[in-house]
Amino acid sequence: MSLDGKRRIIIFSGAGLSAESGLQTYRDHDGLWEKHRIEDVATADAFAAHPHRVHRFMSDRRQELARVAPNAAHHGMATLQQLYSVVNITQNIDDLLERAGCTEIIHLHGFLPEIRCLACDHVWDIGHTNYDGHPCPRCAGQRTKPNIVLFGDPAPLYQVLHHLFFPAYKEDALTQKDIVVVIGTMGNVVPISHYLWEQKCTKILNNLEDSPFVPASMFDYVFLKPATAAISEIIDVISGL
Ligand SMILES: [Zn+2]
Repeated sequence: MSLDGKRRIIIFSGAGLSAESGLQTYRDHDGLWEKHRIEDVATADAFAAHPHRVHRFMSDRRQELARVAPNAAHHGMATLQQLYSVVNITQNIDDLLERAGCTEIIHLHGFLPEIRCLACDHVWDIGHTNYDGHPCPRCAGQRTKPNIVLFGDPAPLYQVLHHLFFPAYKEDALTQKDIVVVIGTMGNVVPISHYLWEQKCTKILNNLEDSPFVPASMFDYVFLKPATAAISEIIDVISGL
């Protein structure tokens, strides 16, 4: 039983959730890394050597966000949030869950609309705009970074993920009443199955295809289809539990 006795839903999502909105994923054949070298634009080393290049790349991604919209799966999650206590943990850096109306969202790999000050750690939102290099509004520091976990950066929010699944206090642990939904992730970046093996909760998987890193066999319900096609069935399953 969780503290307030309410059914909790944890939704863990990845690129497959936003792909249908038209956002390029990194692994598609015509994806971002066909046009840009990761090591030029998205690593900690690239940022140290050429911060402007990384800022420019992320500004392009930010403007791309303005041209896409949340899809049925994002909206479905907002619907679930009205009925249950939902936490969204996403590997996505886009703002499509926010724009669908979700509120409790943990962006494990950062959040594209934000800029972070390297002097005082202040974070501010510039929406879908091109970052013009303006200094930190709090301390006027000039050294800023897209608020994104680049390859080679530490990912501090992995701690939050860990505590959700392996809480310090027994009474915070997930129970049979609770539900974990894994959507649109092959599980090769964040080892979500490692967190799920011993959980007593109901487990739901939605991926395009089976992946050895999130094997269908460890889930109670499996939907191997696009997220927008699966979302209403997922909501039905949850309503019936
Ligand atoms: Zn600052």
